[in-house]
Amino acid sequence: MTQRIPVVENILNANDHLAQENHTRLESAGVFSINLMASPGAGKTSLIEQTLPRLKDKLRIAAIDGDIATSLDSDRAAAAGALSSIQINTGGNCHLDAVMLRGALDQLQLNQYDLLLVENVGNLVCPAEFKLGTHKSVLIASIPEGDDKPYKYPGMYRGVDALIINKIDLLPYVSFRMDFFQRGVESLNPGVITFPLSCRTGEGMDAWINWLLQNSTK
Ligand code: MG
Ligand code: ZN
Repeated sequence: MTQRIPVVENILNANDHLAQENHTRLESAGVFSINLMASPGAGKTSLIEQTLPRLKDKLRIAAIDGDIATSLDSDRAAAAGALSSIQINTGGNCHLDAVMLRGALDQLQLNQYDLLLVENVGNLVCPAEFKLGTHKSVLIASIPEGDDKPYKYPGMYRGVDALIINKIDLLPYVSFRMDFFQRGVESLNPGVITFPLSCRTGEGMDAWINWLLQNSTK
């Protein structure tokens, strides 16, 4: 019984150490990098698909996609204009970790990119625990998931640097109390920068694109 906690801690410590190495590599190559996390179906790949065409003439972008079994999402990133799109098949694992990201970084000439978009595995629990070494963690919430998610998954909401609220075009059709949702977010992560948007209609995309652009050209 008492053995279990130290073992988990050691795994996380080892991961943090590798994440720091990844961060140093990205930083020294001048690549701004984000770790995109969300539940399945919240719109991680759609966001990447809508982001790439808006930035590909301004930034050199690579995408890394973590997926349990398929390469469908990385194919979509490539089609949308990523200069490189790399698939990490996690072999059933429900999150990316720093070792997996390192393996993907090894396949890229990092100094040829300005921005790296990492799509984590769709999961609101363990991706929050496993740092990758990216500059910013971004969580995508979406209207159909419901307004209680900050209360149910506090670990995820607490740790992120930015929050996207996707599918706002569905607000008229879903009972989603935005004030209840935002109170939950505020209690866990006060002042976190938030981008309400719709990948489908394009509403709200400009603020998100400008944030990426500002961070990538610092
Ligand atoms: Mg996806
Ligand atoms: Zn996991």
